[in-house]
Amino acid sequence: MADCIFCRIATGEIPATIVRRTPEAVAFRDLTPQAPAHVLIIPTRHLAAVRDAREPADQAELGRLLQFAAEVATELGLDEGGYRLVANTGKNGGQSVFHLHFHLLGGRPLGWPPG
Ligand code: AMP
Repeated sequence: MADCIFCRIATGEIPATIVRRTPEAVAFRDLTPQAPAHVLIIPTRHLAAVRDAREPADQAELGRLLQFAAEVATELGLDEGGYRLVANTGKNGGQSVFHLHFHLLGGRPLGWPPG
């Protein structure tokens, strides 16, 4: 989508610090990190949010995206300390960019419940 900032990061049109990339997914550093490690995991194909991934092909893609996120976490050395994967969804979820993404957060203990 031309007006989607994460689509434009996926194509390289907007610069980002890329951590890992496959044809189907991109991991890049969050511009406003909330933890020592804060990476966004996105599918290159535009989907607005988790709630829109309804088709069997979308579900399969989400499964692969989680696998990709786990590989990124390993690459960043987060397995031993642990980490959080979160997909803010819609207004109450606090989603501000409407291209499906997981936040991968780690490198410090994370509070629960979230605000
Ligand atoms: P959310 O509020 O869950 O939709 O998360 C959107 C995230 O995208 C926020 O944590 C922002 O800091 C991050 N963000 C927005 N624009 C950029 C960008 N150009 N590069 C990297 N991260 C971004």
